[in-house]
Amino acid sequence: MFANKEEFKYTFLQRLEMVYGKRFSESTALDQYHTLGNMIREHISNHWIQTNERNRAEHKKQVYYLSIEFLLGRLLGSYLMNLGIRDVVEEGLKELGIQLRDIEEVETDAGLGNGGLGRLAACFLDSLASLDLPGHGQGIRYKHGLFDQKIVNGYQVELPEQWLRHGNVWEVRKEDLAIEVNFWGKVNVYTENGRLKFHHIDAEKVMAVPYDMPVIGYDTKTVNTLRLWSAEPAKFPMNKNVMQYKRETEAISEFLYPDDANDEGKILRLKQQYFLVAASIGSIVREYRNRYGHLKDFHQHVAIHINDTHPVLAIPELMRILLDEEEMSWEDAWYITTNTISYTNHTTLSEALEKWPVYIFKPLLPRIYMIIEEINERFCRNLWERYPGDWKRIEEMAIIAHGLVKMAHLAIVGCHSVNGVAKIHSEILKHREMKRFYEYFPEKFNNKTNGITHRRWLLKANPELATLVTEAIGTGWIKHSEQLIELKRYATDASFKEELAHVKMKRKAILAKLICEKTGIAIDETSIFDVQVKRLHAYKRQLLNVLHIMYLYNRLKADPNFTIYPRTFIFGAKASPGYHYAKRIIKLIHSLAEKVNHDKQIKGQLKVVFLENYRVSLAEKIFPAADVSEQISTASKEASGTGNMKFMINGAVTIGTMDGANIEIFERVGSDNIFIFGLTAEEVLHYYENGGYHSYEYYHHDQRIQQVVNQLVNGFFHDAYDHFEPIYDSLLAQNDQYFVLRDFASYVEAQEKVGTAYEHQEKWLEMSAINIANSGYFSSDRTIREYARDIWNIHE
Ligand SMILES: *Cc1c(COP(=O)(O)O)cnc(C)c1O
Repeated sequence: MFANKEEFKYTFLQRLEMVYGKRFSESTALDQYHTLGNMIREHISNHWIQTNERNRAEHKKQVYYLSIEFLLGRLLGSYLMNLGIRDVVEEGLKELGIQLRDIEEVETDAGLGNGGLGRLAACFLDSLASLDLPGHGQGIRYKHGLFDQKIVNGYQVELPEQWLRHGNVWEVRKEDLAIEVNFWGKVNVYTENGRLKFHHIDAEKVMAVPYDMPVIGYDTKTVNTLRLWSAEPAKFPMNKNVMQYKRETEAISEFLYPDDANDEGKILRLKQQYFLVAASIGSIVREYRNRYGHLKDFHQHVAIHINDTHPVLAIPELMRILLDEEEMSWEDAWYITTNTISYTNHTTLSEALEKWPVYIFKPLLPRIYMIIEEINERFCRNLWERYPGDWKRIEEMAIIAHGLVKMAHLAIVGCHSVNGVAKIHSEILKHREMKRFYEYFPEKFNNKTNGITHRRWLLKANPELATLVTEAIGTGWIKHSEQLIELKRYATDASFKEELAHVKMKRKAILAKLICEKTGIAIDETSIFDVQVKRLHAYKRQLLNVLHIMYLYNRLKADPNFTIYPRTFIFGAKASPGYHYAKRIIKLIHSLAEKVNHDKQIKGQLKVVFLENYRVSLAEKIFPAADVSEQISTASKEASGTGNMKFMINGAVTIGTMDGANIEIFERVGSDNIFIFGLTAEEVLHYYENGGYHSYEYYHHDQRIQQVVNQLVNGFFHDAYDHFEPIYDSLLAQNDQYFVLRDFASYVEAQEKVGTAYEHQEKWLEMSAINIANSGYFSSDRTIREYARDIWNIHE
């Protein structure tokens, strides 16, 4: 049905009229989108079935990637591209008088994630399938993904996201494969034939119903599966108020990250985590039993990866099945479990390390809690043997301590592999955050530097640049991203650079148009597009960017002879609903935009733009248009970052700190092709260990800092002038935890270099080309090959 455009057109029209019972001329873009989606699903169904059959027949080891987030974005465009049918479809539709782009735009992002962690999971799925590896995702089918952000008067307002409003054409509901999940109740312990038995009684049962989505690789017949679980009432709810039971059950897959400020919210989050794990492991084990009968060699045929600690209950859940259902010895069960499961750590921020109060955990998951207690006791006994008398160390390392269950500790103890997501992050884990664990389990720790699927982020998002790349070096890079390095030869090629400039201008014009439509702000297309898009967080230091813009504005106002190369500062960021400080920064960006954008005196040399509702589909329009990539986190805080890689592959030049994967970008492009500033991680950590620094001194001695900091509270922003006091306080009274003022001068200097470098277009384009050439390493294909080889031991 996609063999040629005539056949495509014929099938498309037939399907559309059949399914919607109306003429094509009366159909909407949404009807057309659904028709196309159904055709694609039908088209790949054979490959989907065959992939599963082949995996079974060949007894291939399977990987399951468990993640509380999958930030997939839109799928239509990516599937058309991966299937190699985009051109046929586009041309066929054109003859029917429709633009494929318009149909793509009606797809709602599958926004089942917050940011980097969830997007990583989505990039990994693409790479697994594209590399023909048997790797599948398991997650939660949230009814509402991450909130939609509206900006009202400069303030963030959150609206419930509605991605399922028009159904989800990519999913298949598999009711017959539902899994029963148990909460609450109690555990009866008794002896039978000399063996301790555990019987979970009076449990509240929830049905986990799977919805399978195909994961289609690029130019391959492999179609893997993303299985998302939906929570539904069990057939025969016991006791309890039925309506309340229904409400509580459905709440489990209602929202991504429900507010967990109170105990009720904490219970819900823990329920979500166990729900994901029990459903996933339940279905993996069921399929395994059907194939092999027993679970004795489970770890040889199955690898389960947990993306951060949210799915860490996979460890006690697999133990429960092996102990209570398979009746294995503790030692055998533990051997299989630890050899099956591996774990990725994503952060060293202490507030992000999960700890659950025992008083919540134990009643909700009584049998799981018993198993964790046993794991903890055995672990502490081993520690005692290794470090006799060292109570402090054992207390620090225990899985349960001071009434809390420490999820990261459980993960490290119960997995065979613990990895960080960039070299520096893995080193910090080994030598600081998880030092004690590294001393005890040195063989478990390793690094897997993150990556992005270069197919979505270059081939799909920036077809203009992709075409230019292909004209230069051929198509090999699409499957072998490391071939992008061949572009290095073109970095000094005048005609290549001219075309590169042309492509960038074209993408800037497209973004400028979008900005004008969305915000009404007319921007100079020839200005430098300086972009910071990522979650709003104090450690990512959007504030440093803002203070620098304020400083530029002050200089332009004070000195009519001072000029700069025109710059457009573009922001996109959602703040967590309960993160009030971050929300004030969003307001600050808007107040600054208001001030700067309307000031005739600065002659359009500065513009500030905030694009609302930052998400994958918007990101795909932003990265191709960026000249400058802002990666300015406080060194040591950003585990890796992946936005930095998406900018780089689109030819933007980074201004950044020596943090996360910025360091590895620096190592590849060299100091001439990146703008590095600020404290190093070593220096930051040294300050922390010695009580911080004195931000007041920097305020006191630097006029520029004094002026911009004062402007936060002195009426400069008359529309919200007491609103920024907490920001002011964070910098002075609270001693500037994220070293914004400490890095200010260094940042200003680096930004001046950026401005100067941009004026030398020939040199700038060379930098841009060198960045693209070196971005091949940061493909998630490379990352996934490393996971497959070092952690999962899986093969094509
Ligand atoms: C890549 C991406 C992120 C992660 O960006 P960082 O700069 O690494 O924090 C967050 N959100 C979306 C929509 C993304 O595409």
